[in-house]
Amino acid sequence: MSFDLIVKNGVLPDGRTADIAISGDKIAAIEPKIEAEAGRVIDAEGSLVSPPFVDPHFHMDATLSYGIPRINASGTLLEGIALWGELKPLLTHEAVKQRALDYCDWAVSMGLLAIRTHVDTCDDRLLALEALLEVKKEVAPYLDLQLVAFPQDGLYRDPTARENTIRALDMGADVVGGIPHFERTMEDGRRSVTELCEIAAARGKMIDLHCDETDDPMSRHIEQLVYETQRLGLQGRSNGSHLTSMHSMDNYYVSKLLPMMAEAQVSAIANPLINIVIQGRHDTYPKRRGMTRVPEMLKYGIRVGFGQDCVLDPWYSLGNGDMLDVAFMGLHVGQMTHPDDMRKCFDIVTRENAAVMNLEGYGLEVGKTASLVVLDANDTIEAIRLRAERIAVVSKGNVVAERPRRDTKLNLPGRPVHVNRRHTMPN
Ligand SMILES: [Zn+2]
Repeated sequence: MSFDLIVKNGVLPDGRTADIAISGDKIAAIEPKIEAEAGRVIDAEGSLVSPPFVDPHFHMDATLSYGIPRINASGTLLEGIALWGELKPLLTHEAVKQRALDYCDWAVSMGLLAIRTHVDTCDDRLLALEALLEVKKEVAPYLDLQLVAFPQDGLYRDPTARENTIRALDMGADVVGGIPHFERTMEDGRRSVTELCEIAAARGKMIDLHCDETDDPMSRHIEQLVYETQRLGLQGRSNGSHLTSMHSMDNYYVSKLLPMMAEAQVSAIANPLINIVIQGRHDTYPKRRGMTRVPEMLKYGIRVGFGQDCVLDPWYSLGNGDMLDVAFMGLHVGQMTHPDDMRKCFDIVTRENAAVMNLEGYGLEVGKTASLVVLDANDTIEAIRLRAERIAVVSKGNVVAERPRRDTKLNLPGRPVHVNRRHTMPN
């Protein structure tokens, strides 16, 4: 018996120690010890081996454009949208594609191997969509992209958004997007949710709306999304992104809403880094955090994803494609400090995000796609604490990224020569 690749001495997210054998692009065996020939062996040396990171909410058409043509001085969502409106006419096919490919390189280096990106369809040229359809094809051997047809300026508020969004779906966009809270009226927002859900149902597509990304507690488009998901049979294929208004909603109303979300299998995608900087900008003190009610949703059995949303673009001046940063922020803002909750945060940026996107073949199991990450950490909690280095990244059977372990050399008499900040908990 011979394999193409064996990753030895890894610690799986559930704590088991195992060797993982890979043949072609599939996981062939996971055993405590695999004694067999292999084209290549990677020794994980007792480090965490996890399935790859997944990002269910991103904007790849805008990424790495920070400062073009200017920065977002107020830091608000609305200035970001206005700024993106200034940048849009300046976009070229080549520039969008180049920035997207650069970001995909960053993603791979971080073990981030599947990304759902919204693509703005409020541009009669659909230039960004064309560029990202090409990028999707080019990176497919190592990174899975899902494209959302996203009418950034409003399905009805923008004069040609509706026809362009439908055209984008005809051209190959995978998911139906929308932005009900940005339409001119609550009623237009409600109608947009209904029409977009009908489009998704008719085409057998998933739907993922930017939904209630506002501090206004009366922004309740999630209610309509839940209703239409039930009515049209979109259960398990329907996502509400952001849902930040829920942070400010009345508790009684939320106690009615959450069970309905669970019943309709509408999942939520929070974007902790972005929500914590964009929301609450009109508050003095106390300042609201703006992230949706993650621990409460989990308690009701609602599936929750965490997205990166933005990296160096009109809305966010930082970011580097590290989903552990996202988990770290989500954990803090949600006050999810119990060990079970911290482990859940790691699950969210891996398995749960994959489930939100309905990814096929995902997971560290025999027969699944051979994609994994070796992290310089003992376990999933420590991976979040250290935002651990990715020692090796395997995608579809190929080692696509690797780096040396980087212990810091100490020059302290009487102290150890190296320190890596890994910590084994006392029993
Ligand atoms: Zn977004």
